[in-house]
Amino acid sequence: MGGKELNYIHEAFDTNWVAPLGPNVNGFEKAIEVELGQGVYAAALSSGTGAIHLGLKLLGVGVGDEVVCQSFTFSASANPILYLGAKPIFVDSERDTWNINPELLRKAIENRIRNFKKPKAIIAVHLYGMPYKIEAVRAIADEFQIPILEDSAEALGSSYKGISCGTFGNIGILSFNGNKIITTSGGGALVSKDKEIRDKAIFLATQARDDAPHYQHSHVGYNYRMSNVLAGIGRGQMEVLGDRVKARRKNYDFYVQALEGCLDIHFLSEPKDYFSNRWLSCILTSGYDMREMLRNALLEENIESRPLWKPLHLQPIFSTCAQFMDGTSEDLFNRGLCLPSGSNLEQEDLERVVATIKNALS
Ligand SMILES: *Cc1c(COP(=O)(O)O)cnc(C)c1O
Repeated sequence: MGGKELNYIHEAFDTNWVAPLGPNVNGFEKAIEVELGQGVYAAALSSGTGAIHLGLKLLGVGVGDEVVCQSFTFSASANPILYLGAKPIFVDSERDTWNINPELLRKAIENRIRNFKKPKAIIAVHLYGMPYKIEAVRAIADEFQIPILEDSAEALGSSYKGISCGTFGNIGILSFNGNKIITTSGGGALVSKDKEIRDKAIFLATQARDDAPHYQHSHVGYNYRMSNVLAGIGRGQMEVLGDRVKARRKNYDFYVQALEGCLDIHFLSEPKDYFSNRWLSCILTSGYDMREMLRNALLEENIESRPLWKPLHLQPIFSTCAQFMDGTSEDLFNRGLCLPSGSNLEQEDLERVVATIKNALS
């Protein structure tokens, strides 16, 4: 926590706004809109997953539809496709950003169109805070007239050419889950430059209540709004987002510098015009065995590390889905490791991680 969160929570209690609406929700949404810029409108919701669910619904995804989705991501990117009775079409990653490969994306779309199944949406993810290939993905989306659902859950504070992640999709989503760069303990947001989309998201997220003195409903509603208490945490957290990004990037820079001489360890550097929040510091080792050797060496020192996200096309729940792969995400999964990356790591923590890795390598 940054320090001011409790003030906002006290304000909610003092004014008796312990409800799923109120001044903190409005203030948090305003803070998100100011942070992202580009004239976006924000709806604070109960989770990033809920935001993806509503986002896909607002893009017209329904039963039997197909949605193209980056395979190299957390399962929450794709689960809402299944909630809607639609089918994920998985696409592999490229090497420069580890995100959706534009060439394979085109191949997937052309293949589905040949099968009379034009995808209803493209889910592109800024994994670990690294922006995807913004221009190439947008060009394909425009060419085929398919909207982008931009999963920016891991990329608050990241940007491309100075423009914030979260503002590139037709709809963007953010997450404030406990593991993200800032948190409301649990929460998310849907953002869009289209005010009507944001307003509809809030309508659906609050049980789709029609304008009437009694309870009147002509749409299926959801209970996905963020509470005014948690939004108070969010307001305090937004004030320290810049510090958190600095701390995460400092972790990453330290690892790069300290492990420079290790030929078996590689990092994903930022392409020109890219700015990553470095949510997690990730390394690529020379192979699966070395990755496991390092992970176990760290574990022996009571240091937690984790393999990169397991691609969704390799997950049992999604194994029968259509896929357009070239082996990149599977290779990243086999060789990659997330190192300790918290914003509160001390210099001596970082040094201990590096010493353990160097010792294991020697
Ligand atoms: C965390 C995360 C989500 C889901 O957000 P929640 O707020 O936890 O529901 C979606 N996509 C990605 C890539 C994430 O990392």
